[in-house]
Amino acid sequence: MITIDNNTFPRVADSGNWLVMKFGGTSVSSLQTWETIRDLIVERQAAGFRPVVVHSAVANVSNRLEAALEAAVKGEFAAELEGITSVHADLAAALGLESTLLDELAGELQQLLAGVRLVREVSPRVRVRVMALGELMATTLGAAYLQAAGIEVTWTDARDALQSVDIPHENERSRYLAASCGTDADTELQHRFDGMPGVILTQGFIAKNPSGESVLLGRGGSDTSAAYFAAKLQAAGLEIWTDVPGLFSANPHIVSGARLLNTLSYQEAQEIASTGGSVLHPRCIRPVRHHGIPLRVRCTSQP
Ligand code: ASP
Ligand code: MG
Repeated sequence: MITIDNNTFPRVADSGNWLVMKFGGTSVSSLQTWETIRDLIVERQAAGFRPVVVHSAVANVSNRLEAALEAAVKGEFAAELEGITSVHADLAAALGLESTLLDELAGELQQLLAGVRLVREVSPRVRVRVMALGELMATTLGAAYLQAAGIEVTWTDARDALQSVDIPHENERSRYLAASCGTDADTELQHRFDGMPGVILTQGFIAKNPSGESVLLGRGGSDTSAAYFAAKLQAAGLEIWTDVPGLFSANPHIVSGARLLNTLSYQEAQEIASTGGSVLHPRCIRPVRHHGIPLRVRCTSQP
């Protein structure tokens, strides 16, 4: 069992005490990180929070899906598909899960890629469906692992919770591939989640538009998904679990004197995210800032 600071966030009286925990691709790619996630959930629950886990596709899978689409346009995608399938099969094996868990999603991926090969082009809608499969595959494994580890989990489709807003004159690509959602509190969602047992586990990156079609929130958009969930649920806090310990005053790979920043305002965090700091997605600050929800960046390998 790892030791963590339980009092990450003050609990709020008369609230759902939701705590949104977002895990990036490297944080969901090995047995070791999943053991950490399991322990963190147990500790958060013991401290009186209701965790909502939002997590990314397995590390590099979104890049591999993009490469598979490009390969399919050119006429051959077998190697790319095989790579994606085996990454998940390896992770399933490491987590002690049946590899057949993903058969249906893998079959859908194969069919979509075959369709792209046939027409030799990728429409934004088809791209969304292919990219969404990375998040669906990862969360299917994540939920099954936590369940097998004795944690009650409700897997839920993020597209039933996050609806994008139509922006007038927005082009088709950004409407489907880089959509935005509202940040108002959502009491209906709070009640719905309240009725779901255990930990709620869902995807980042995907949402639905007002016509009910799937859309993406832009590459790296899982941070933003987690922030939308925090805003809608009026969460006690948002934790972004990643592979670095926080935001730095400068890029620590380039500037030797870069300092880890202990505390910063939403505005300062926004400036760092918008000017190329790669820790937080630039769109993930606004939803939590809107409601004054505290956000913490944490490192999964050093919890
Ligand atoms: N999996 C998606 C991506 O790599 C979303 C995310 O991880 O934030 O862009
Ligand atoms: Mg990220």
